[in-house]
Amino acid sequence: MIAQGIGMTSRRTRERLVEHIRAQGVRDERVLRQILEVPRHLFVDEALASRAYENTALPIGLNQTISQPYIVARMTEALLAGGPLENVLEVGTGSGYQTAVLSPLVRRVYTVERIGALLRQARQRFHRLRLMNVRTKHADGGLGWPHYAPYDGIIVTAAPEGIPLALVEQLRPGGRMVLPIGSRQEQALVRVTRTADGYDKVLLERVSFVPLLGGVD
Ligand code: SAH
Repeated sequence: MIAQGIGMTSRRTRERLVEHIRAQGVRDERVLRQILEVPRHLFVDEALASRAYENTALPIGLNQTISQPYIVARMTEALLAGGPLENVLEVGTGSGYQTAVLSPLVRRVYTVERIGALLRQARQRFHRLRLMNVRTKHADGGLGWPHYAPYDGIIVTAAPEGIPLALVEQLRPGGRMVLPIGSRQEQALVRVTRTADGYDKVLLERVSFVPLLGGVD
């Protein structure tokens, strides 16, 4: 019953969510399939499981949220649009939902989370869902994960005020990063592409994420 669920976590409920996200403009069928397949109710507290297939962010404790499914789909689509990706760095594991959506679509995901308690739960979910290509690290992801750099792609799921240069430096030339930037009040989702002598930036849309913080908890 793990992947199937009943009632509010049923196939039908998930299909409705996918149709909603499609109507919002997400076109990549690989991504939409992942939204259908990944059991989001396993990424939230049991008390919230009945709301897991609503197209909204939900609290995951410690002042953090699991991102809205539409945003997860949109960011994944933007990341994949440049062609196949070997290694991807994710900053802000949180519940692990974005990681799980991305994992089968790329060769390897390296994900960094600064809150130990959240990372422990996410690791259990990866194990339970047999996501074999995910590596996790408890650290300040604003500094990236230099050991496995350069990355083909980087996805950041918490908002820094500006583009972290440490992350740009860990992208290979031609590699792309999708991230929210801005203040608590106002953020934009942007796509950054590393060039020979710097980077290009394209604004995608207005978003609202928790802030990227320094250090670890
Ligand atoms: N993608 C996640 C979203 C979680 S919210 C999901 O789908 O559930 C953003 C996460 O980023 C939070 O868990 C927060 O603790 C984490 N975060 C914030 N600043 C960070 C940093 N500097 N390094 C790593 N993780 C960070």
